[in-house]
Amino acid sequence: MNTFETDAAFVAHTYARFPLEIVGGKGSVLTGSDGKSYIDLGSGIAVNTLGVCDAGWIAAVTDQLHRFGHTSNLYYSAPCADLAAELCARTGMQKVFFSNSGAEANECAIKAARAYGAAKHGEDCYTILTLENSFHGRTLTTLAATGQDVFHEKFQPLTPGFVSIEPTPEALAAALDTYKVAAVLFEIVRGEGGVLPLEKSFVDALEKEAAAHDFLLMCDEVQCGNGRSGTLYAYMQYGLSPDVVATAKGLGGGLPLGATLLGDKVADLFTPGSNGSTFGGNPIAAAGALYVLSGLDDDLLAGVRRKSEQIRAALTGAPGVESVTGLGLMLGVQTTLPAKEVASRCIGRGVLVLTAKDKVRLLPALNIPDDLLMQAIGILKDICAEGVQ
Ligand SMILES: *Cc1c(COP(=O)(O)O)cnc(C)c1O
Repeated sequence: MNTFETDAAFVAHTYARFPLEIVGGKGSVLTGSDGKSYIDLGSGIAVNTLGVCDAGWIAAVTDQLHRFGHTSNLYYSAPCADLAAELCARTGMQKVFFSNSGAEANECAIKAARAYGAAKHGEDCYTILTLENSFHGRTLTTLAATGQDVFHEKFQPLTPGFVSIEPTPEALAAALDTYKVAAVLFEIVRGEGGVLPLEKSFVDALEKEAAAHDFLLMCDEVQCGNGRSGTLYAYMQYGLSPDVVATAKGLGGGLPLGATLLGDKVADLFTPGSNGSTFGGNPIAAAGALYVLSGLDDDLLAGVRRKSEQIRAALTGAPGVESVTGLGLMLGVQTTLPAKEVASRCIGRGVLVLTAKDKVRLLPALNIPDDLLMQAIGILKDICAEGVQ
């Protein structure tokens, strides 16, 4: 059997895969088992921050692999400690809990909210507000947090205590009148929900209400974090000071790593035994993440913002393109053709894009060379135009 047949026979059918097998690559160019090259504008869903097989990242990871690949969290290890220190230095947060995925990073945030609400306002203060069209993960609790009913089908009952609202100051005020709210969990740019950045007025309202009601502001930066938005974390563009930041995807640069950054209000909530993860803060993943963070300097972030403008300039108003939304190198393109159709045609022309709801979603590696990027955008633009011919 070839890979397609073996996968179809033995891997649970939870993914609608495209008919493409990846066998190798370098940077933002992947090689298929068909022998063809593909310009990657998806980076493994915002994971391969520096593309695949980045030489420095491989060196950092293999160096650690040769020292020791894993130890339990019963002992100290330098990559884990150094990564936490670096994340705190660059965000002003106080402590970090490490896990292996975005869902787990959010689970930790949710535990923080429950513990905070109960400790500060009593046991009936547990409601966590989330946003319509949000996405927070696939565990039962993060599914409950996810404000899209389509993900909830089949899996009832979900964890109680979540209410999703429209991201408007009015909806927030109404929810605060109705529920005892421990936290609001939100993506600055809702990724799976259609690449939708929050309005500044809503973020301002969140900050004002949080000060008045003492609930936690918890940013899910699993997708929009780690340089993708053009700043290290997307909340930084809104002048916001969150209490909790959950991140994963691009932090490890290709290895599984989740991190929950805890600010002043929650830094000391967790005590020995109150949370844990066997693999969390694994030294190999942490060594890779330290390398990724060292690469996310002012130059690279300025490049992200510049490339974002180039993509917008090329696509905005182009035939078959209805709108371009997003921040940095996290962009959603509303096309006249169905997004899935655009993605399929792109594969046929050697370009990999993602979709988010009914949009084409672009999440290229942050260091993608300009010429490669614009070559791929040119192909995408041609395919979009096919929708109006
Ligand atoms: C992908 C994603 C998650 C879930 O991350 P996993 O690593 O798949 O568990 C959570 N929140 C957001 C915003 C995401 O984009």
